[in-house]
Amino acid sequence: MTVLGEISPEKLGFTMTHEHLLIDTCWVTDRVDDLLNDEEIAVEELLLYKKAGGNSIVELTNGGIKRNPEALKRIAERTGINIIMGCGWYRGPYYPEEINHRSTNNLAEEMIRDIIEGVGETGIRAGIIGEIGVNLDYLTPAEERVLRAAARAHIQTGKAITLHAEYCSVGLDQLNILEEEGVDLKRVIVGHADSFLNLKYHEEIYRRGAYIQFDGIGRDHIYPDKMRLKSLVDLIKRGYVEKILLSTDRCRRSDLHLYGGKGYDHLLVDFIPKLKKAGVTKRDIEIMTVDNPKIILD
Ligand SMILES: [Zn+2]
Repeated sequence: MTVLGEISPEKLGFTMTHEHLLIDTCWVTDRVDDLLNDEEIAVEELLLYKKAGGNSIVELTNGGIKRNPEALKRIAERTGINIIMGCGWYRGPYYPEEINHRSTNNLAEEMIRDIIEGVGETGIRAGIIGEIGVNLDYLTPAEERVLRAAARAHIQTGKAITLHAEYCSVGLDQLNILEEEGVDLKRVIVGHADSFLNLKYHEEIYRRGAYIQFDGIGRDHIYPDKMRLKSLVDLIKRGYVEKILLSTDRCRRSDLHLYGGKGYDHLLVDFIPKLKKAGVTKRDIEIMTVDNPKIILD
């Protein structure tokens, strides 16, 4: 399900599964770098991804960080890139106050409506649940409720859940809650897994059946790509390729070419050639960037 409607899974092609085109986290961080609000720039930057061979992206801006379905639709029309939109709410500090006044099932109902009927009156439908986050290394009561609501929306709709968990193994705590709610973890992506390059963490995600997502490629302030590459090659050697997803999580002005950053094409033009040089086969790259996204976005 894209912002322009349903497409056949074969049309997805090369897909990055955790990106942002328009996002505002600036209202919390107070840094203008954290504000992407220019459609023209988004179109230009996305066209560079297309030129490099990209076909689709999952855009995970959701509640609290200014999701804009109509703008995403215009960007998809202008670029020819398939855009899969998220739903739900991001993480604690970004929640609107109303989260505290609504029941878990009421939150789930809104996600279900976004998926089945579309957001508000737009008719533009979400294709994935998330990104659903925790702010620190534990879940606050509100974050736990949003996560449980996401689980219930998943059970009603079958759409995958994509998580935000940074710098520690808190993704496993999220998986525990989802499991309690009856979610089959095969339909769950643990996002930002490469913000904590810990083999035990990645193996545990794999063992439980969820996806290990390396979505910070090019984000040197977290880890240099060199370390990400080493960890990824190791996971592939261990036979985990069918549970790995790749993306670049562009969410700041300084991530874009216009401002001197690496852009949405960094994975294709820089990182994948390095993977090949490190001995990763063309087929394994295809599994991570085409086959796995096709399965999880079904
Ligand atoms: Zn995130």
